[in-house]
Amino acid sequence: MKIPIKEAIQQRPLLGDGAMGTQLMIAGLEQGACGEEWNLAHPDRVLAIQRRYAEAGSDCILTNTFGGSRIMLNRHGNADNVVAINTAGVDIVREAFKSAGREGYVIGDIGPFGGLMEPYGEFTEEQVRNAFIEQAKALVDAGADAIIIETQTGLEELGLGIAAAKEAGAACIIGSMAYDVTLDGSTFRTMMGIDPERAAEFMEERGAHIVALNCGTGMDMPRATEAIRRYKAATGLPVMAQPNAGQPKLVDMKVTYDETPQQMGRGGVPLIEAGCNIIGACCGSTPDHIRAFRAAMDEHAGVASA
Ligand SMILES: [Zn+2]
Repeated sequence: MKIPIKEAIQQRPLLGDGAMGTQLMIAGLEQGACGEEWNLAHPDRVLAIQRRYAEAGSDCILTNTFGGSRIMLNRHGNADNVVAINTAGVDIVREAFKSAGREGYVIGDIGPFGGLMEPYGEFTEEQVRNAFIEQAKALVDAGADAIIIETQTGLEELGLGIAAAKEAGAACIIGSMAYDVTLDGSTFRTMMGIDPERAAEFMEERGAHIVALNCGTGMDMPRATEAIRRYKAATGLPVMAQPNAGQPKLVDMKVTYDETPQQMGRGGVPLIEAGCNIIGACCGSTPDHIRAFRAAMDEHAGVASA
């Protein structure tokens, strides 16, 4: 029996996974199509991506359910498949660990609902709350070890996500913010103006267990490390980082990211030394980036115990 994720991160830092969206594109998903639908239509392709992460050394893998809320799925005519898509998402991660011969944690992924709430937008708070509760329940019922509410920019939506995960009975709840470096480069905050200190305080107050950051603009490894330091100064909760693989660049009409696995791997050590409990990566990262993190983490653990 594996120990709960909350206990595991007290013993050693865990390695997360890399990008899903950009990997699905490489596997043939069309721009704007429903990647979560592949959990039912092409589970083999989703499994192949996640197995590569498990083989690269991931201890935790996020389910392919970023857009798996009713509101997001409804845009693709998949509102009737909320439970099936989220359940399959958990099953596929479990299968990925099994086929790689590795034990690991399934993190149920909930991304933004992709719109605005009243009075600025068309969705009521009730609709968003219900959509998050439905998705969180499907993920927890299928056996997810944790729930991550990720790529969040405002506290209102984050709060609804955390409450939904709580209501679903999630054993571990992770809140993850997307920060953008300001134009003058002096600091970073979310699109809605939230800084790491405020986010950390809010998450602690609402009962999240892990305070995280992912994605964002200009949030390279040193910036992610700075965010982790600021989180740790603001809260006693464990922390997690999933930065992008550098900046997106258009090369031959294809979006590529400019940070190599070696560069990212080197940035992993300062992140561990800053006290990061789970290290993963977001857009543009690949199984090679995760393998580079694994090597850096194992080497660091060896040095630390030597
Ligand atoms: Zn991203």
